[in-house]
Amino acid sequence: MKQDSRIFVAGHRGMVGSAIVRKLELDGFTNILTRSSAELDLRNQNEVEDFFLRQKPEFVFLAAAHVGGIMANKTFRAEFIYDNLMIEANVIHAAWKHGVSKLLFLGSSCIYPRLAPQPMREDCLLTGLLEDTNEPYAIAKIAGIKLCEAYRDQHGCNFISAMPTNLFGKGDNYDLQKSHVIPALIRKFHEAKISQSPETVIWGSGAPLREFMFVDDLADGCVFLMRNYDDRLFVNIGTGTEITIKDLAYIIKGVVGFDGEVIFDAGKPDGTPRKLMDSTLIYSLGWRHKTELIDGLVSAYQHFKSEFA
Ligand code: GDP
Repeated sequence: MKQDSRIFVAGHRGMVGSAIVRKLELDGFTNILTRSSAELDLRNQNEVEDFFLRQKPEFVFLAAAHVGGIMANKTFRAEFIYDNLMIEANVIHAAWKHGVSKLLFLGSSCIYPRLAPQPMREDCLLTGLLEDTNEPYAIAKIAGIKLCEAYRDQHGCNFISAMPTNLFGKGDNYDLQKSHVIPALIRKFHEAKISQSPETVIWGSGAPLREFMFVDDLADGCVFLMRNYDDRLFVNIGTGTEITIKDLAYIIKGVVGFDGEVIFDAGKPDGTPRKLMDSTLIYSLGWRHKTELIDGLVSAYQHFKSEFA
């Protein structure tokens, strides 16, 4: 990528896309192309075709996706599979047709089998059944990986894929019905603190283990791969550290400064029991995350307060 390369960041209004734009700007790239979903509906093949024809991007970060937490995935199953399949198919096909030099597709750690051996290596893809709560989303993300591989195999395209672990940070979704666990807990504890509520309710048993990465680190990893990685195998991007939802809840409680009790609602789903990625491949290329969980949580809470509180 040259400093003035035409770089399209699809999904720049989302948490991941906006972090990638911040990183590219910081690195001095001068020709970053963005479109809101109102300007360009990536589910519409004609609109995507027209955009690639006119704008001729040379590099594409495919960070646009319909995303959400455990309840949103479980409830809006049709939207999660349809929107994501359409976005990926349209953008990847147009990228091939219009001669994009390199494309990076963003997947998710939920592509792996529900009971995959931990930590999960890239080669355990498609070795077992998926977690039911997010199966439609996972199937769409697996299709994205396979699109990149197929266009590489048949047409020689330099299309690569990165699989981030669970993310959080600036630009996260704080809608309690749709969000992931970290923004949900930041908001719940904050509102309980303000209203001096005696307790806050956390979904599930608190036992599931998750790995979390600050989104600016993920963006750094994506730009690193765009510069340094050209192989067919997709790449996990994780921190290598996992934590129970219960311990995470107590840390966020401390960051927010809530004094009341934490109640676990066993009527809500736990999801997959454990989801730690093996990030040996990206580490071997010389990349590591920089932000510790606690520092990322403090920063995320500051963003939440400045944007919503
Ligand atoms: P997942 O990694 O796909 O399961 O996505 P989430 O981030 O939505 O959920 C992670 C874990 O946190 C699950 O075990 C949830 O049950 C648990 N959790 C606890 N409280 C909440 C909450 O208020 N919102 C969400 N989204 N998850 C919660």
